[in-house]
Amino acid sequence: MRGSPPLALPTKPDVKLFTDAPLSIRTTWRIGGPADYLVLAADRAAMLAALEWADAERLPVTIFGGGSNLLAPDGGLRGLVICSRTPGDRAENLLKVEELGDQARFTVGAQAPLTWTGRAAANLGWAGLDWGVGLPGTIGGATVNNAGAHGTEMKDHLETVTVLDLETGRIETHPGTWLESAYRYTAIKAMPRPRRYIVLEVSMLLPKGDRAELLALADHHAEFRDRTQPTGACGGSTFANPYPHYAGKLIEDAGLKGFMIGPVGFSTVHANFIVNEGGGTAAQVRELIATAQQTVRDRFGVELHTEIEDLGEPE
Ligand SMILES: Cc1cc2nc3c(=O)[nH]c(=O)nc-3n(C[C@H](O)[C@H](O)[C@H](O)COP(=O)(O)OP(=O)(O)OC[C@H]3O[C@@H](n4cnc5c(N)ncnc54)[C@H](O)[C@@H]3O)c2cc1C
Repeated sequence: MRGSPPLALPTKPDVKLFTDAPLSIRTTWRIGGPADYLVLAADRAAMLAALEWADAERLPVTIFGGGSNLLAPDGGLRGLVICSRTPGDRAENLLKVEELGDQARFTVGAQAPLTWTGRAAANLGWAGLDWGVGLPGTIGGATVNNAGAHGTEMKDHLETVTVLDLETGRIETHPGTWLESAYRYTAIKAMPRPRRYIVLEVSMLLPKGDRAELLALADHHAEFRDRTQPTGACGGSTFANPYPHYAGKLIEDAGLKGFMIGPVGFSTVHANFIVNEGGGTAAQVRELIATAQQTVRDRFGVELHTEIEDLGEPE
């Protein structure tokens, strides 16, 4: 698309269009070449306006939430990237809470940060989302990845998921089970790109809890992460844990903890994270991934499968 005349977005004050937009500032890895077009969509209206435009211009669409589980290509992405996220201090409009006796229905827009939503639930005395505090990323990304921590996953309290079906143009609400969620898997994550469904909103049923206990638990989770996981530029867990093993332990036992290729390497804090010390590339991350897979296979006969999503290089 580069080299062609600039396209016009529908006039909408909260839709900003960037061209040749570096993806490195949209991923927690700080890696990624330019997207032809990029829109920051802080709410549903902005998302729908951007999608309508992409449809009219026949552009393929890639959705980024927090970009914390994505390896963006060095060659960038063709078409439109929609960054579907809003900062926590502006997320309140994306949350609706209905009290239903001993549980509450939390209806949350895809753009809301997971950490903010988890803390909001704890603060209101509703349990079941404390695990999300300290995780980077959005409700949309967490839903597609079936994110989880401390024994709880997104699917555990998911009541419904509202999606836009790009094939029919219809907005549909499905029961949470429609996603067929399993360990870091959903039917949407399994789809080839460009994908058919965009997550707009989810509803979760959260049981009553003790506010003070939940806030303490949330702080504990956040503090645990700071102590046990890298805090700089990195992606999420590189590999899913191959039951009954732990990917980080296998990488460490294979002697790869701290191993680097250029400025990227397996974290010395937790070997299942790949950190970027600055100027790293997707190619280097892929080389590290292949090295770990080969070494762990040779030493222990265990296959490592990636949990992060590699968007691949453009053709
Ligand atoms: C330091 C660190 C620690 C982490 N710890 C954990 C952990 O403990 N547990 C865990 O599960 N994960 C963890 N992660 C990974 C990641 O943070 C979570 O999986 C997170 O929920 C992903 O959300 P995101 O918004 O960043 O998604 P992204 O990485 O932006 O996207 C993930 C997927 O969702 C798609 N997507 C995003 N939004 C939408 C939407 N609205 N509609 C359709 N598709 C969409 C993307 O296209 C992509 O396929 C960690 C990551 C980091 C960097």
